[in-house]
Amino acid sequence: MEGLHLAKYPFLKDAAEHVKDQGVTLDDLLEHQAFRQARARGKARVIDALEDGIVRLRPMGTAEEQLEEILSYPMARMFVSSVGDKFLTRRYALAEGVAMCERLERERSDIVEEVAYQLGVPVTTDVDESDELTVRMHFSDYLRFTSRMRSKEWKLVNTEVKDGHVTLNQVKFARVMQQALQDRIEAELPLPVTDSIVRALGDDLRELKDRTAIKRDQFKAEDFGKVSVENFPPCMKHLIGMAQAGENIPHSGRFALTAFLHHVGLSSDEILALYATSPDFDQSKTKYQVDHITGETSGTEYTPPECSTMKSYGICYEPDSLCNHPKEYVKHPLSYYRIKNLPPRKAGPSPSPSSISPSPAGPQ
Ligand code: SF4
Repeated sequence: MEGLHLAKYPFLKDAAEHVKDQGVTLDDLLEHQAFRQARARGKARVIDALEDGIVRLRPMGTAEEQLEEILSYPMARMFVSSVGDKFLTRRYALAEGVAMCERLERERSDIVEEVAYQLGVPVTTDVDESDELTVRMHFSDYLRFTSRMRSKEWKLVNTEVKDGHVTLNQVKFARVMQQALQDRIEAELPLPVTDSIVRALGDDLRELKDRTAIKRDQFKAEDFGKVSVENFPPCMKHLIGMAQAGENIPHSGRFALTAFLHHVGLSSDEILALYATSPDFDQSKTKYQVDHITGETSGTEYTPPECSTMKSYGICYEPDSLCNHPKEYVKHPLSYYRIKNLPPRKAGPSPSPSSISPSPAGPQ
């Protein structure tokens, strides 16, 4: 692969080989004046991920710029590993995945095949008379990366399987590869970092830590108008964090979150806006689902599941001391929210569990 493609796909094994061939060492990259631009580009990759959710294209016209771009990738990984924050790792993996997806959607067939191969997905490609590229991959690889995608179009039953292979158009295939890269980066990071690396990253690392903390807090604590997210149960805060970080939320989680937000007073438009950062966001489909759950089109205002059901779905995230209170008041996420919103108790009898549990017909 030539330099330009290595710069566009710097996570490939060939890009690492290229760096080795150039004789660039880790110490050079961290300290040498000649690699100041590569370090700056590495930091910019992380800032792009935090702020925009996609790593932006930078000039790659000359061999020098291409090498800087390739080196910016290991540099960004060192920054992310040194910050050591799961939120940043996920956000960064997503941003690299989205950037690759955008590039792969317009890439020529041999590069598509090579990128897929180096991500561990052997494929064959075909170009028809109208220049449309299709990609054929084994159904087990397809399932590996699409099982967490919610939209029906990704279900295997809605995809033609022939001789154990599925055939996708270039745009859909790029989206599958986005998931492959995201999964890989999330599995690889954080890398072990030494004290000397942390020292070398210096002020830039401190800045990225601060920016990460600010962004994470914005996502976690942002209030929805009159509704205070501070008092939300941990499961709902976690689901909101996933939505705002653009992560795929399981279907059961979207149902629970949508029903919860509706019951605490958010409008359908406000709920819709929350999901708009998802990589799979589809305005009309999401609106249909939100309107159904909130009762606008179904006539039934659905209630989020009880805690026991949330647990069985694997979406009871990070239960805290109130969730695990020995008197077991919290059997429902809405009960948690109500308890948190109660005015401070004066001395006297405690509220009974029934006074803070949702009614069987659903909380209003
Ligand atoms: S115990 Fe209930 S309220 Fe608490 S995190 Fe789990 S599901 Fe949410």
